[in-house]
Amino acid sequence: MGKKDQLATFVFEGCNVRGGIVSLDNTWQLIVARHNYPSAVAGLVGEASVASVLMASHLKGGTSLSMQIIGEGAIRLLVVQCSGDLRVRAMADWREPLPTGGLLGGGRLAVTLEPAIGERYQGIVPIVGSSMAQSLEAYFQRSEQLATKLWLSASPERAVGLMLQAIPGEDGQGGATGINLDSVLSEMTLLDQPDVAHPERFLREHFGAWDIRLHAPRALAHDCRCTSSHLGNIVRMLGEAEVNSLLSEQGMVELTCEFCNRAFRYGPQDARAALDGRDVSGQLLH
Ligand SMILES: [Zn+2]
Repeated sequence: MGKKDQLATFVFEGCNVRGGIVSLDNTWQLIVARHNYPSAVAGLVGEASVASVLMASHLKGGTSLSMQIIGEGAIRLLVVQCSGDLRVRAMADWREPLPTGGLLGGGRLAVTLEPAIGERYQGIVPIVGSSMAQSLEAYFQRSEQLATKLWLSASPERAVGLMLQAIPGEDGQGGATGINLDSVLSEMTLLDQPDVAHPERFLREHFGAWDIRLHAPRALAHDCRCTSSHLGNIVRMLGEAEVNSLLSEQGMVELTCEFCNRAFRYGPQDARAALDGRDVSGQLLH
């Protein structure tokens, strides 16, 4: 634990509680590098990025997770995606002026799971509370009936988080030992001001007396999947009428990836080839 750009998951032996610790370091810096997010927005993007990894941490191999916040407050849209192999990307759109208080003011939180094979699943809940962690705890309770506790924190250098969660499929009462998430949490003495900036220390300090089995840590990476040919597919999805209108107005089709802010330009030849379903390589502008 404690390594950079890593997810460590664990279970509490003898009770139905599992958890994860995430540290996003270079990954986090790459996620925000190409955006000029105000610091409060960046903080929320960081918390959401960490949360997406924690939420994906117990999914079966190959399942990717997207979390979308459609906000009525300062955050208009926030999207984070974590692939089955723990590649993370995120974007946010906000309304000015930003309030001095919390940025989450009502709206919806949607979580979509896309397994490598099989049906996708989406759960949508209203945003409750003023923090990302509170909203996600409510999501788990409402959508998956899983008692969950999350601590999330983001600074310009790191975004970190810790999750403790009841293990699904059990009776919720802690099985044979009768120990469940509530009894684990009641052991904590500093619940009001947990030091989540150092989650591994936090875990040791609060749960040092517990028998915790750690799994092998997994590496995280930032990876935006917006290759030029991927965006070429988006040119095709715009449809012939839209592409023709862009070509006649601007002489080209230009697309910007909202996640990494890279822009690609497709000239008339490329744009028409994309419409024909051919793999095209637009020009990377920035
Ligand atoms: Zn991108």
